[in-house]
Amino acid sequence: MFKKILIANRGEIALRIIRSCKELGVETVAVYSEADRDSLHVKFADEAVCIGPPPSRESYLNIPRLIAAAEITNSDAIHPGYGFLAENAQFSEICESSGIKFIGPRPAMITAMGDKALAKETMRNAGIPVVPGSDGIIEDLAEAKKMAESIGYPVIIKATAGGGGKGMRLAWSPDEFERQFQMARTEAEAAFGNGSVYIEKYVEQPRHIEFQVLGDQYGEVIHLGERECSIQRRHQKLIEESPSPFMDAELREKMGAAAIKGSKSVKYEGAGTIEFLVDKNRNFYFMEMNTRIQVEHPVTEQVVGLDLVREQIAVAAGAKVSKKKLRQVGHAIECRVNAEDPSKGFRPNPGTISGFHTPGGYGVRTDTHAYAGYTIPPYYDSLIAKQIAFGATREEVVDRMYRALEEFVIEGVATTIPFHMKVMKDARFRKGDFDTHFLDSFNFSD
Ligand code: ADP
Repeated sequence: MFKKILIANRGEIALRIIRSCKELGVETVAVYSEADRDSLHVKFADEAVCIGPPPSRESYLNIPRLIAAAEITNSDAIHPGYGFLAENAQFSEICESSGIKFIGPRPAMITAMGDKALAKETMRNAGIPVVPGSDGIIEDLAEAKKMAESIGYPVIIKATAGGGGKGMRLAWSPDEFERQFQMARTEAEAAFGNGSVYIEKYVEQPRHIEFQVLGDQYGEVIHLGERECSIQRRHQKLIEESPSPFMDAELREKMGAAAIKGSKSVKYEGAGTIEFLVDKNRNFYFMEMNTRIQVEHPVTEQVVGLDLVREQIAVAAGAKVSKKKLRQVGHAIECRVNAEDPSKGFRPNPGTISGFHTPGGYGVRTDTHAYAGYTIPPYYDSLIAKQIAFGATREEVVDRMYRALEEFVIEGVATTIPFHMKVMKDARFRKGDFDTHFLDSFNFSD
């Protein structure tokens, strides 16, 4: 086991990782920007190193400063969390060459799965169904148009370096194709410094269902069931749950086998997620693989009874994943509580939290780095808490989530709590009858 782990992240996930390390008896080093001096992850770690000014590229994205912090503290491993450098192959490589274990996959794997067009090709070659579309990137407008015709409208144009729903554009007909194609390229260039795009069939009324996988250093991979992530706004997840209300044993068996086969074909090591789109006829298609711990990992933890961060650290230290039969008991839901105002188009709302009280009681878990008096800096994402509820049945858990959200007090900044409460009372949500368009027709304001 490692002696000391540096956590190259901030916010709730940094705290989440520190908690698992403490239980494992591993020392922790927090890093922080000048804007995060008063953050809980800094207070809870054994040591803390300031790595620079507030902008991410000068702190949480600054590889030399992170490596220096690991070296001066004698850390033998780095946990990247999610976002920032979690899927940066160069970072993983520099850790490796500096003799520091990167808790995540090897550089080549991050590269292979990070390029979405290449990842699709790899999975197709492994025999996994992928969304029909272009083979690799498409440069030329005329070629792209021809490709769209042959795939059949509607099509979706996606950035190969994409993430967070950016650089993604829909075209319903040939008339709007050119405009959307150019927009996707411009957006991708601006967001990722890489304007490469590829084209996919737009799966209509899809559900986003993903599988959690865990691979060890000896080629073994297991899956830990699925997460339903169809409640999205602008292709960004807001509510996740496990199991998916759409799932049955037969589909789980098929999709789980595909997730394992795909991961084994690339000798995947660590915690990862295989994302699928599922159409109304239960056809499923590989969409992408995330080579890190996901924001929504707690819903899996609550139904499978495993601490995923602990498992992730254990496999990085050389442990084997056990091939025990998947135990998926009960139901869990997560609501992402963001400092955003749902009545004003989810406008970010940084500021100081004047009053803060987290819910408690049976079947409730709150992962947060916030507290009364905490100031949410404007530089980073707006996630301030993950509210999780779990229990025996979905119906019970939806009611429990409503009760928990009602208890959750956050004063001083607008949050998405009122939005989540409305969803918990929505008849379609309660029935489990939704797809990724659920929020398109949702009334956010009253
Ligand atoms: P990102 O990495 O930017 O989050 P993803 O590839 O994971 O992008 O897609 C995000 C979301 O966009 C999906 O969950 C789904 O709602 C939608 N989406 C992506 N590709 C398609 C497609 N071919 N058909 C329908 N919806 C899609």
